[in-house]
Formats: sequence, structure tokens, C-alpha cells
Amino acid sequence: MLPPETELWNRVEQTAREVFGSFGFGEIRLPIFEPTELFARAVGSETDIVSKEMYSFEDHGWIELEQYRAALIVKSMSPGLPSEFTQFERSVLAYVDILSKRMSAGDVPKTPENEKALVQVRRCLDDMNRAGASFVGTQSASDEISFENSLKGVKQALLFFRLGDVLSLRPEATASVCRAYIEHGMHALAHPVKLYYTGPMFRRERPQKGRYRQFYQIGAEVLESVPPNTDATKTIGKDAAVDAEVIEMVMAYFARVGLEGVQLDINSIGHSAPECRRGYVEKLKAALEKVKDKLGADSQRRIETNPLRVLDSKLESEQAIIEKLPRIGDHLCADCAKHYAEVKRQLELRGVAYRENWRLVRGLDYYMRTTFEITARGLGSQNAVCGGGRYDGLVELLGGPPTQGIGFAIGEDRVILSLQEAGKGNRAQGLDVYIAWMGEKTLAAAIRAARKLRDAGFRVELPPVEQKFGKALGQADKLGARYALILGEDEVASGQWTLKTLADGTQGKHSEAGLMEFLRKQKS
Ligand code: ATP
Ligand code: MG
Repeated sequence: MLPPETELWNRVEQTAREVFGSFGFGEIRLPIFEPTELFARAVGSETDIVSKEMYSFEDHGWIELEQYRAALIVKSMSPGLPSEFTQFERSVLAYVDILSKRMSAGDVPKTPENEKALVQVRRCLDDMNRAGASFVGTQSASDEISFENSLKGVKQALLFFRLGDVLSLRPEATASVCRAYIEHGMHALAHPVKLYYTGPMFRRERPQKGRYRQFYQIGAEVLESVPPNTDATKTIGKDAAVDAEVIEMVMAYFARVGLEGVQLDINSIGHSAPECRRGYVEKLKAALEKVKDKLGADSQRRIETNPLRVLDSKLESEQAIIEKLPRIGDHLCADCAKHYAEVKRQLELRGVAYRENWRLVRGLDYYMRTTFEITARGLGSQNAVCGGGRYDGLVELLGGPPTQGIGFAIGEDRVILSLQEAGKGNRAQGLDVYIAWMGEKTLAAAIRAARKLRDAGFRVELPPVEQKFGKALGQADKLGARYALILGEDEVASGQWTLKTLADGTQGKHSEAGLMEFLRKQKS
């Protein structure tokens, strides 16, 4: 990202600050990485994001221990060569000894998993010993196999041992917001807690237009702790109003930045109970089983792993089949149906146009009721610029108090692309004044002029060394300056400075004060 494009980025972000601020949201600044475990729990270990797309690493400085391990891992061994094995065993035990000591000293994580790994190493070494000794006598294939398996067991356990905490570059920010909510006891703040964030996210994806491995999101979350003994049926109207206002806010934001062809899709995915979404998913599964042969491999697999995701399919050949599947709207429980009707009524009250899309789903258990997605023009197949939904239960899943949540994430890169496609990108903001000075004696006056002009808000270029006037004017032109302030020794001596308007080549003389006055008038 380079100027002048970065000015568009700034405008897009600044507008978010203004609009979200006007809805009472405050900014939260989150870490770029968090424990992998947080994302595995919050986003779900079975999602693409966590299972395939995260950049994860072990946070430790034990390069030599890692190399030691790498050397052990690549060793291959035959049960027929006991001396080789004895050597290997000695090296592994020495390594285990170092790990145990580091663990006791608290230098590497002293977790049950790590302790288990070391026990497994020792046990598998024993098994190897036994199988090897037996093989020497029998030469049997079964001894050879158990020797190989034990060796595999040793290597697995060594790999399983964590030399440091496992961290990931954040693939999204809702998990971090919920973590911060819990960690900082935000349930004690005035409710609801309204937060927004901006910043880079990281996913290991195949880069293409509108899809990058480092991309930027602007997002917001509304969190609200639920007091004990709250009758959930009584808060439906309030919840729906919160959902509608969050959606109204994103739409107001997109209108303010000038995004074109904005389309809001909404849906309700009910809640996870048997009388609601779970019952529906069973029916969906049954219906999918009946048409299984006609589905592609991905969808066939999803019937078992995540049937709702089949509805996401963009495969042409599956579209007619999907249209005939049971729809969640017909299977919502009474409360969820009431909530959805109320969200729609609230959106209408706010003049927010929407389209119902029964195929809009989120595959995670704690997502519930409202889901929405916003698309925009000029983006080809990557046309989603915002995804959002309600996630009551997530904070509790992460160890916090019962809390309701709703939020969204905007794909900033795509917003920028769409604005550029619509010709709303920024043009380079040129200089106001180029100071063409010549002669050592004029430098002090040139520096003073630059300072005054900059203080007054002008963009000023003061070349570090004197230039011939011809060259200076050429440079001023190249930088897109509107004026050249010409300071030679005559000008400084007479106190009458020359200002040249570069567009038409006219020029005039001004006193120092008169010059400021003149430029200020031109600006306003
Ligand atoms: P998609 O279906 O496009 O992969 P997603 O469901 O993975 O989107 P979310 O996790 O809901 O997306 O993220 C919200 C928004 O962030 C998306 O609507 C999109 O605008 C943007 N986004 C997601 N992944 C990327 C990426 N790799 N590059 C650029 N923008 C992205
Ligand atoms: Mg994605």
C-alpha cells in the first residue's frame, strides 16, 4: 500500500471511527497474536480458518533443542543393528533429561501434555528394546513391525512435546475481543459494551483478487452480560433492536464511505436446541442423504461434518437440488421466530432495505439467530464486504459469565477495491508550495517561510540544497505543487517575495505577511 492509495485507506478507517463513534462505540486495540487455543475454541477447530488457514508457531528460543529434536526425528533404525539403537536410545534419553530439567525450572511449559509426552518416549523406548532383542533371535516380521511402531511412537512423542506456548497470528478478532472482555472484567462496565477495532488479520489462503494472506478488517462487537435469573423470552424485543441497530450502523457506514451496489442479506439460524436448529439439521441431513449421489464430493463430506455448510455451495450442479431442501425458516422455535420477525420490523423502522436469504448460515454451535452478509459491486466472486451475526454463549464458552454478543467484520481491502472500481479512489494530493531558494543568505528566510506555511496547514517542500531556479521549477511541477515561492538574495533584501502560480505561470510580489494572507485566501 502506497500513497496516494493510503489516503483512501485513511478515509475509509476515519469514516468508520466517526460513524461507529456516533453510535457510542469505543475503540479496542488488540494483540496481533494470541494463544492458538483461543482461536481453536472460539472460531472452532473444525472450521477452515482454524484447521487450514492459521499461521501458528511455538513461542520459544530453544533453537538448539529444536535442532536436537530434528536430528532425532530423521533417524531410521533397523532392529538387526543393536549398536545403532543403543546409540539412539542414549541420545533420546539425554534429550529427555534436558527437557525434564527445563520443565522443572519452568523454562518450557510444564503441562500435563508435556509430561505425558516424556512418559510415552520412555515407554516406547522400552518397547523398542524388547522388540529389538526378540528380533535378534527370531528374525520375525512381527518383531520388526513392533520395533518400527515403537520407533514411530518415540518420534511422535518428541514432536508432541511443546518447547513453548503455541501462538497464532489472529485470523479474526471476535475471539480476542471476548478474551479481553473476560480478562478486563468488562461485565462490570455500563452495558452494553460497544467496541470496534481495525487492523490486519492473517489467513493462509490462495491469494487472488479480494483474498489475501494479510488482509484488513474493520469490525465491531456489542457485548452484554446476562444477569442471573433473566427470563430470556422477555429480552427478545431488546435483542432484536440491538441486532437491527448494529446492521443499521454498518449500512450507514457504507453509505458514508460511498460504497456502491450494497446489498444486505439476512437470515436467522435459530438456536442450537433440538426443537430449533438441531431438529432442522436432522431433517436437512435426512433430505441430503436422499440426494447424496447427485452432490459433489465436498457437499457429500459435509453431510456428516457440517450439513449447514452445504447450503453455502456455489457449485452450479447443486443449485437446483439445494433449492428443494428444507428451509430453516420453517423450523425455528417460537422464540427464534419471534426474534427474527422483530429484527425485520426493526430494520424496516430504520429504513434499512434487506433481502432474506435462507441459505446464509454460520456453521458454529454458539452462533444463533441473526446472521447477515453484505455484498458490494465491482468485486467479482469475492464480493462479500461484511459478515456478521449473533453469538450469545461465546464469552461463556471461553470461561466468562453468560453474555450476549453480536458483531460483524468488514473486509477493508474489498471496500477499497470496490471504491476504486467506482472511480472513488483518491488522486495524489499534490504539494501546495515548493520553495525555490538560492544563495546561502536566503536559507534562513526559506526555513522560516517553510515553518510558517506548514504551521498554517500547507504542504510544503523545502529542498535541502539550493537549486538553479529552472531546475527548482521543474521539480515543483513534477511534485504537483500549486505554487513556487521564489527566494533569491534580491527578494530577501527587498522583503518582497515572488510567488509563482504554476498552473498559469502568473507571478506576483508579496511581503512575508502579505504572502501568508494571499495563500490563506486561495485555500479557503
Ligand atoms: P469468504 O467467504 O469470502 O472466505 P469468510 O466467511 O472467510 O469470507 P469472514 O471470516 O466472515 O469471511 O470475514 C469477514 C469479511 O472479511 C469477509 O466478508 C471479507 O470481506 C473479508 N475477508 C475474509 N477473508 C479475507 C481474505 N483472505 N482477504 C481479504 N478479505 C477477507
Ligand atoms: Mg474465508
